[in-house]
Amino acid sequence: MSLLEHEELVVGRGKRSGIHVIVAIHSTALGPALGGARLWSYQALGDAIADALRLSEAMTYKASAAGLDLGGGKAVLCVPPGRELTPDIRRDLMLDLGDVVESLGGRYVTAEDVGTGTEDMLIIGERTSHVVGKPVDAGGSGDPSPVTARGVEAAIRACVAHRYGSGDLTGRVVAVIGLGHVGLALAERLADAGAELVVSDIDDAKREDAERLGAAWIGPERAMTAPCDVLAPCALGGAVNLDNIEELRCGIVCGSANNVLAGDSLAERLAERDILYAPDFIANAGGLINVYGELEELGDDRLNELVDGIGEALGKVFELAAERSVTPLAAARAVALERLDQASRPSGTASSASRAAILPASRA
Ligand code: NAD
Repeated sequence: MSLLEHEELVVGRGKRSGIHVIVAIHSTALGPALGGARLWSYQALGDAIADALRLSEAMTYKASAAGLDLGGGKAVLCVPPGRELTPDIRRDLMLDLGDVVESLGGRYVTAEDVGTGTEDMLIIGERTSHVVGKPVDAGGSGDPSPVTARGVEAAIRACVAHRYGSGDLTGRVVAVIGLGHVGLALAERLADAGAELVVSDIDDAKREDAERLGAAWIGPERAMTAPCDVLAPCALGGAVNLDNIEELRCGIVCGSANNVLAGDSLAERLAERDILYAPDFIANAGGLINVYGELEELGDDRLNELVDGIGEALGKVFELAAERSVTPLAAARAVALERLDQASRPSGTASSASRAAILPASRA
């Protein structure tokens, strides 16, 4: 990734909150750049900018691979370490973000991400109409996490089918790292499907959820190296990194976290270690499909069809990877890039390019 690949980067200090607001637009080749607003504490502004650039690029690939007429963008709200966010300051910060989004004239549409929620989207909506993911009772699609979890389950089933010959999860050991919005919903679905769960969170209060689900609890420092069939990172990015990659004891890595790999080259090492990796931007596309459904006013049936199609899409990625002798990450990128290339050609349009995408959206 380099800055030159991005179309636009806005960095400003919110006039109400005094907190830095960053919006990175990676691409609008397929449509408006859509991506959530991440609220997080960073040691340095540069770290927050780097995160925005990386995450917005991932959104471009995600939308393209999912066959959606959307580009990739991301907002980062850079809270200084130790700074307390009172409800008033938080509100000011959301209004500041709303102003920045509005100033981009629809080239970027914001949504919720780590640290932000549906109520925040409502506040942002006071300053701009380019926001999705508002609460259901305010006409929005609400929390996307259950839909994301549904998509990750479909992805896990596809991985398990590819690796073990059947998508049946009964008795499969799945380690869910991070029992937040997506992780908990995923763990509940997997428990219903008969999987044996190992779960972890830095928040000890989540042990109660583990007990309720009949899941084994493991401390976060040992969670990534737990022996399991499927390792499902559902916390922050960089879960698989140079420090732990040689210690992983799983057959599959497939979770909801964005940027699961600390670097792309780790995909090759995973393949060498015979660990099947589900590219994150395919596995976690359910959240994006959910807000796309809001924008396009899709009904529940069509939405679920698209989300469940993530499994089929992943199966095709694994086939392409085998055909070309490349990693699943490289294969998924190739599919996404092909569609972007088509859209960038003079005769190409986003909708004709959709036909090259891999999700069932392409058949719509
Ligand atoms: P969340 O903040 O609700 O949950 C994250 C959880 O991870 C929290 O419970 C936190 O305590 C825990 N955690 C943090 N660091 C940890 C660690 N080192 N070990 C164990 N647990 C740790 O966030 P979320 O909405 O559930 O999203 C989780 C991931 O999925 C993020 O990377 C997000 O970008 C990605 N994602 C989310 C959605 C969505 O619909 N919410 C969609 C696509 C991608």
